[in-house]
Amino acid sequence: MRNKIPCSAERLGLLTSEMIQAVSDASAFQIAHQYLTTNRVRIAEADDSQITSTVIGNSGLYEQNIRLKDGHLVSKCSCTLPEEPMCRHCIAVLLEYQRWAQPRQSRNPKLAKESITTAAPTSPSDNGKRAPVPSFTADVKLSDVMVFLEWLQPAMKALERQEPLPPPPALGPGAISMWIQAISNLEDRRRESEEVMTSLESQLKDRDSDVGHLTQQLQTSLRERNAAQAITQELRREVASYKEVLTRVSELTAEVVRHAAQMRAVTGDMLQKGSQLEKLVSSFKDVAETLQSAVVLPSHE
Ligand SMILES: [Zn+2]
Repeated sequence: MRNKIPCSAERLGLLTSEMIQAVSDASAFQIAHQYLTTNRVRIAEADDSQITSTVIGNSGLYEQNIRLKDGHLVSKCSCTLPEEPMCRHCIAVLLEYQRWAQPRQSRNPKLAKESITTAAPTSPSDNGKRAPVPSFTADVKLSDVMVFLEWLQPAMKALERQEPLPPPPALGPGAISMWIQAISNLEDRRRESEEVMTSLESQLKDRDSDVGHLTQQLQTSLRERNAAQAITQELRREVASYKEVLTRVSELTAEVVRHAAQMRAVTGDMLQKGSQLEKLVSSFKDVAETLQSAVVLPSHE
């Protein structure tokens, strides 16, 4: 989400938490505050006009870029939350920035005008190369350095054994705190990568078992298909034999029809002959009557 709100502050360091709260959505501000107190905000790079950071949200890691430009506060976050005018992650980042920027300014107002990303410290292990850790070189106290070195020894051992870092010493905001913060950030990132790796490995295992299941299902389906093919062939054979029977039946029907026609013809013939016979009989009767009358008539004379 990208948002732009008018802002009269000339430097990001001048924003107070009250000002941030005044422009924020109440519930987003509350969640942002929880993120802050549970140490989920990591400022990667910051100066008075812009902040680059990451926040561990409830569903993953989100990246933010917040800038002061032309009288506007422009915030960009990789999340998709519709929170206006700023998402909870950007609010948390502003609060985190404000948390360590404020005491610094009140302690040394002259320094506050300078950029926060100045020279980085040189550690004995990196062959004189400057480590990319933001810090205030002018702000380092020797006592703080001693405390830091004391913390660093067990911290290095913990890193070697991949164990959690020892609790950071109680130091005020400043360069040393930032070094410790940077080391903690690196360790957190290593842990996050490890977690991602573990989850990827378990996903891979799940996929493997899915593939196994699918292979089994495929084999079962193949067996079922073969059985179905055998049944189909059997049915085809049966259908063919029924067809033969039907052909035979239709042949027989044709023969019966032919015989019936012959029968009808014979019956017609017989009827015709019968009627001829009747005619013959009646003509015989006529002849007989004629003869009878011829014989009887002379006896009366
Ligand atoms: Zn966000």
